[in-house]
Amino acid sequence: MGMTESNYAKITGGLKREHKSFINLMPLQTGGILTDAAREALMEFGDGYSVCDFCLGDLSNITNPPIKKFVHEFLPQFLGCEVATITHGAREAKFTIMHSLTKPGETIVVDGNRHYTTIVAAERVVLNVIEVPSSGYPEFKIDVNDYMPLIEKHHPKLILLTYPDGNYGNLPDARRLGKIAAEYDVPYILNGAYAVGRMPIKMDDVGADFIIGSAHKSMASAGPCGVLGMKEKWEDILLRKSALYQNKE
Ligand SMILES: *Cc1c(COP(=O)(O)O)cnc(C)c1O
Repeated sequence: MGMTESNYAKITGGLKREHKSFINLMPLQTGGILTDAAREALMEFGDGYSVCDFCLGDLSNITNPPIKKFVHEFLPQFLGCEVATITHGAREAKFTIMHSLTKPGETIVVDGNRHYTTIVAAERVVLNVIEVPSSGYPEFKIDVNDYMPLIEKHHPKLILLTYPDGNYGNLPDARRLGKIAAEYDVPYILNGAYAVGRMPIKMDDVGADFIIGSAHKSMASAGPCGVLGMKEKWEDILLRKSALYQNKE
């Protein structure tokens, strides 16, 4: 069952990404660097261990290893939210929210520095995406006050802010947008793919309805994994169960 080293090399041609003698200066993508505890766990998990062995149908509620504690206790605390879950990446968190809160043909407003995964998530839900333009060259800043006229004009079902964006590292006034979202009563997604795990950030402090992190970018791990925090009022809509499989979201 297990692939021997030589087998692996034969199939892959060996690991092409030689990095032993280099220092990775890219500050945003260090999620794959293991802590000593994680390295120890990895050795244990390496020989075919699977969390599914202990799964009763719901990944978030596995008690050994303590995923349940992580998802239901540590993660909401860490994200500053009431309810949290884990997803297949930040992109899937965005899709989950958009798919649950909107219908095809409806409109959302996002910042002009949005990541492409915001667009492809919206495309999967068949949404109209209106972008708040940035100031353009050279700073590409987003003034969150510019959301207001677009909210008034388009009546979006959701607004989204990228914090920070991946190209310029701009940190728009996310808190101010929280006030605007409350004023217009529109659910607010904070895409913190590059903030969560990298800098202090709490959803309740910002006043967002949702916070998204990318576990394999900045936060925690090497696997394709994301985190999604939300206000309790969205739990029943977002984490609703399948009619046919009652322990499956
Ligand atoms: C990479 C990235 C995403 C997507 O994250 P995944 O976890 O890979 O889905 C979303 N937003 C920003 C700003 C990113 O850089």
